[in-house]
Amino acid sequence: MNCTKCKQGSLSPSFIEGLFRAHTCTDCGGNWILIEDYVAWKERNPDVTFKEDAVFEVDDTKTALLCPVSGTIMQKFKVSHDSEHKLDYSPQVGGVWLDRGEWEFLKSANLAGSLNRIFTEFWQKTIREASAKETFTEIYKEKFGEADYLKAKEIREWLTAHPCKADLRAYILAEDPYSAER
Ligand SMILES: [Zn+2]
Repeated sequence: MNCTKCKQGSLSPSFIEGLFRAHTCTDCGGNWILIEDYVAWKERNPDVTFKEDAVFEVDDTKTALLCPVSGTIMQKFKVSHDSEHKLDYSPQVGGVWLDRGEWEFLKSANLAGSLNRIFTEFWQKTIREASAKETFTEIYKEKFGEADYLKAKEIREWLTAHPCKADLRAYILAEDPYSAER
C-alpha cells in the first residue's frame, strides 16, 4: 500500500503504541488505522488510558487526502469544538489517516480513547451545537458587554429555575410594579 500523503513511502504493518494494528508510512511517519481494528482492540481493553507525551510535533494536512485503499477523497472531521484540528476519514473503508504527531495530539486532547466516536454523526452534531453556542455567547458579549452579559446570564439562570418566574418577570419588566394602573 502506498502513502497517499507524501506519495514517497509505503505503508507498512505496525502497531500504535504496541497496542493495536495500523500501517505506518516508511517516509512521512503518518499512520493508517482501520477503525474496526481500533474498536476490536478497545473492546478487549476497555480500561486502557493513554499517557500524554511530554513533547511532540504535529502535522495537520489541510489539503484533501486520498484514501490509500479506495483512492477516493477522504472526509475531514473536526475532533472537538475548541480545536481547529481535523482528522481525515474514509467512510467507505472505515479508515483514518493520522499525520505524524496526530496520535500524540489526540492523547494530549484526551481523545485517543474516543477515536472511533469522532466519526459518528452524534459526535459531529455535538461539536456543531457547541460551536453555535459559542458563537451566540460572543454575539451577546459584544452586544451587552462582558460584565452585563455575565450578570444577565446569572439572573436568567436564577429566574428560569424559580417557581414564581412568570410573576418575577412581570415584576422586573413592569413600568411601575407598585402602581395598580396599567
Ligand atoms: Zn507518507
